[in-house]
Amino acid sequence: MTTGQQLRLYNSLGRRMEDFVPLPDSPGGVTGMYSCGPTVYSFPHLGNMRAYVFADTLRRALRWKSIPVRHVINITDVGHAVADSDTGEDKLELAAARERRSVEDIAAFYTQAFFDDIAALNILPADEYPRATAYVGQMIEFAARLEERGHTYRLPSGLYFDTSKSPRYGQLALIDVAGQREAARVEHVEGRRHKTDFALWRAEEAGRRRVMRWDSPWGWGAPGWHLECSVMSIALLGPHFGIHTGGIDHRELHHVNEIAQSEACLGDGKPWVRYWLHNEFLQLGDQKMAKSAGGAPRLADLTAAGYHPMAFRLFLLGGHYRSQVDFTNAAMDAAQATLRRLAARIEPLRPLPAADTLDAALLSAGAAAGEGGTAAALLAELDAAITADLATPKVLAILQDTLRDPALPPDGQRAVVAAADALLGLGLGTLGARAVDGRRAASDLPAGELAAIERLVAARAQARKERDWARADEIRDELGKLGVQVTDTPDGPVWELR
Ligand code: AMP
Ligand code: ZN
Repeated sequence: MTTGQQLRLYNSLGRRMEDFVPLPDSPGGVTGMYSCGPTVYSFPHLGNMRAYVFADTLRRALRWKSIPVRHVINITDVGHAVADSDTGEDKLELAAARERRSVEDIAAFYTQAFFDDIAALNILPADEYPRATAYVGQMIEFAARLEERGHTYRLPSGLYFDTSKSPRYGQLALIDVAGQREAARVEHVEGRRHKTDFALWRAEEAGRRRVMRWDSPWGWGAPGWHLECSVMSIALLGPHFGIHTGGIDHRELHHVNEIAQSEACLGDGKPWVRYWLHNEFLQLGDQKMAKSAGGAPRLADLTAAGYHPMAFRLFLLGGHYRSQVDFTNAAMDAAQATLRRLAARIEPLRPLPAADTLDAALLSAGAAAGEGGTAAALLAELDAAITADLATPKVLAILQDTLRDPALPPDGQRAVVAAADALLGLGLGTLGARAVDGRRAASDLPAGELAAIERLVAARAQARKERDWARADEIRDELGKLGVQVTDTPDGPVWELR
């Protein structure tokens, strides 16, 4: 959809809403987008998935506004030390020791687990998934350039970036640099000049040979964690690109350091990346859901408990990406029930227009809506919601209103549902109600069976009206044998299949 509202996004850099305007000199007019990806030393948990569902929602919004995107998600298979520190052990090496497997095995296994989960959540594949280990040579060149330009100093523990040489250091995190220098970051690094300085290269300690090691001008060792994202994004998207995303924790340290080293290396005085977007945390019992805390649930835990992966996606989209969301069983149950209701209501409308023919479908719906205007109005509401910093809860509400609107002709409903689904990515064009939780939907039944059930339900209501409780119970049992459960509500009996 090319017309409609201007896309507006909340830029963490400056902490304000801004119009999204592609960079004038982006290669081929394509917006580069980089999302910090998984550190592949253990299974990704549901909190991690929030970061990728968020990035996917942003991609869908850009597609909706006909803005072409090249998306890169990195795979961190070296360099990320425990507690995001400069001197701790590499998370992958620790995992390999713990599981008695090679680091290559660990990386391959958990990378596949990540791909499985993002596929199950209907996340659009990125254009590239670069692995950090494949870019160590370029990381060394990058760090050497920083050294040439006087942005670094050497210590026995490696090569450090001198943050005092970057006048804008910490702008993204709104760090009061003087204050931060005084603040106690737990880690003590011998000889580090400022608390904000960080390792570009982590040299091997004498007598402690690392498993993953490369030779460099600063001795054998491994790259610092922040370096990989600068190097791989610039290698794949060009020196300056449009969008960088990640979880909110990255706004405070990782992205601050990516910016400092990239701007120092490029040395052209221009801001490195134009828009920085961060998703808030998925919380578990008042705390950030985290791998290191242990026990963080993953998608496979949900599916084993009978939840559909799309129920989790729907649960996430029911909150705005910049709000903390609490993960609870009750919220998952509600999401599963909503997903089932959506699928059951949408089934009779199929086939929906495909996402790639959506523009045409939207236009014809808009034209057809000339008479009533309802479909066009709903499409305009969808556009207003998604362009207002990705208001997915609003998109969901519009979808539900659309399905409840008796005045809307089926073609109008189809267009609005397809459009909403292109934004939400719930796969509603093919998701059957039964696939959600294994229960049959009324629409699965042959017409004769459906009529027989409805006759019995009516007969039971009549028996109750006549206060013939024995007969009513008998019919309830008979319905039970057909797998039908009846609930009496103030509006009369409601039935569903078990
Ligand atoms: P990691 O694999 O730990 O490097 O993290 C991958 C992505 O998940 C990063 O963008 C993190 O900021 C993000 N992330 C980690 N934990 C959570 C959480 N509980 N909620 C939302 N995002 C998270
Ligand atoms: Zn990163």
